[in-house]
Amino acid sequence: MAPTSISIIGSTGSIGRSTLAVVDRYPERLRVVGLATHQNVERLVEQVQTYRPEMVGICDDSRAGQLRASTSDETSHVVGESALIDVASFPDAETVVIAVVGFAGVRPTLAAIDAGHNVALANKETLITAGEIVMARARQRGVSLAPIDSEHSAIWQCLRAGERGEVRRIILTASGGPFRTLPLDQLDDITPEQALAHPTWNMGSRITIDSATMMNKGFEIIEAARLFDLESDQIDVVIHPQSLVHSMVEFRDGSIIAQLGATDMTLPIAYALFAPDRPPAAEGMPILDVTQMGQLTFEPPDPDRFPALALARRALEDGGTAPVVLNAADEVAVAAFLDGRLRFPEIARTVAEVLDQHTVVKQPTLEDIEAADRWAREIVNHHVANPYTNSGVT
Ligand code: NDP
Ligand code: MG
Repeated sequence: MAPTSISIIGSTGSIGRSTLAVVDRYPERLRVVGLATHQNVERLVEQVQTYRPEMVGICDDSRAGQLRASTSDETSHVVGESALIDVASFPDAETVVIAVVGFAGVRPTLAAIDAGHNVALANKETLITAGEIVMARARQRGVSLAPIDSEHSAIWQCLRAGERGEVRRIILTASGGPFRTLPLDQLDDITPEQALAHPTWNMGSRITIDSATMMNKGFEIIEAARLFDLESDQIDVVIHPQSLVHSMVEFRDGSIIAQLGATDMTLPIAYALFAPDRPPAAEGMPILDVTQMGQLTFEPPDPDRFPALALARRALEDGGTAPVVLNAADEVAVAAFLDGRLRFPEIARTVAEVLDQHTVVKQPTLEDIEAADRWAREIVNHHVANPYTNSGVT
C-alpha cells in the first residue's frame, strides 16, 4: 500500500511533534510532504532535515533567510501571512493535520478542505468559531474531517457501536485540572506555574490553562455539537481525574460505550490518520494495562468552581458569533493571566463580561466571525490595560 501523504500545519507544537512521532512509528504508511509553522525556525529546520518535505512554510518573514539557508533546494519555501494556507492547500497531500493553536487555524482548515484534502483537526478554535461553515464545506467537498482532540476521537470511535438515531447523549470526561479540590477562597492566589502543571496531560500552555478553568471542556461541548450535530442538552460532562476513559456514548437502550487508552495524544492522532483502519500498535506505542489502572472515578463538575462551563453552554445556545467571542476573550484573558495581569478567577469573569456586551450575529459569514474575534480581543485588551476604569472586569 502506498503511504498516505500528509502536511502538518503547526508542526513545531505539541500536537505537531506528536504527529511526527506517529510518522516515525509508521514510516511505511505515512509520508510528510508539507510542514508549516508560525515562527520557531530552529525546530522547523530540524524537522525539514529529518522528514524532507516538498514544501515548507513559516509565517514570520524575519526567519525566511534562516529557513532557506538551512534547507536543501528540494524543498520549496513559502513565507509570510499566507504561508499556512499555501502549505494547507499544497496539492500533493492527501491529509492535512491542523495543529496550530488559536483562531489562526480557521483559514488553513478551509484551504485544505477547498483543495479536496481530508483534514485531521486538532485545532479546536476552528470548530468553536467557524464550525458550522467548516462542517458544511467538508460535506460539500466530500472530504473527511477527523477529530484529534482525545474526547472527540473517543466519541467518534464509540459512535461506531450503533446508529445515529440510537444515541441518547454523549458524556465528555474531564480531568478537572490541578485545582479540582483546592479550597475556593484560594483560587485568587493561583500562579501561572501552578496552573501550567496539568495532572495527567502534557500540552501547550493555552490549553493547559483552559483545562485548569475547565473552559477547555466548555470548548469541547461546542466542538462536539459541531462535529456530531448535537444540541447542548445531549452533551454532558463528568470529572474523571484519572483521564483513562476518554469519553462515552449512551445509547437509547441504556448501554454506555466508553473508549479507554493511555493518556498519550499519539493514539487519537494515529486514529485520525488511519480510521476506520486500526494498524497494529507499533513499537513504542503506549498500551494501557487495565490491571494497573486502579480505581476509576466519575463526579459531576461543581458550577461554582468552574463557571467557564456554563459560559460555554450559553455561547453554544446563543449561537452565531457568541462562541467566537467566548474563544477570543478567553485567549486574551489566558495570555493576561500568564503575564501576571489577571488573577485566575478573572479569566472566566472577563469572558462573561465580554459575552454580556456582545450583540450576537446569527449565521455569520467568515468576515463576521473575524470581526467578532477582533472586537472581543480589543475589549479584553482594553479591560486588562485599564483595570480600574472598567468596574466588574478587574
Ligand atoms: P502548542 O502551543 O504546543 O503549539 C502551537 C503551534 O501553533 C506551534 O506550531 C506554533 O508555532 C503555532 N502557532 C502559534 N501561534 C500561532 C499563530 N499566531 N499563527 C499560526 N501558528 C501559530 O499547541 P498544542 O499543540 O498544544 O495545540 C494545538 C491545537 O491543538 C490547539 O488548538 C489545541 O487546543 C489543540 N489540542 C491540543 C491538545 C494537546 O494535547 N496538546 C489536545 C487537544 C487539542 P511556533 O512553534 O512556530 O510558534
Ligand atoms: Mg480534549
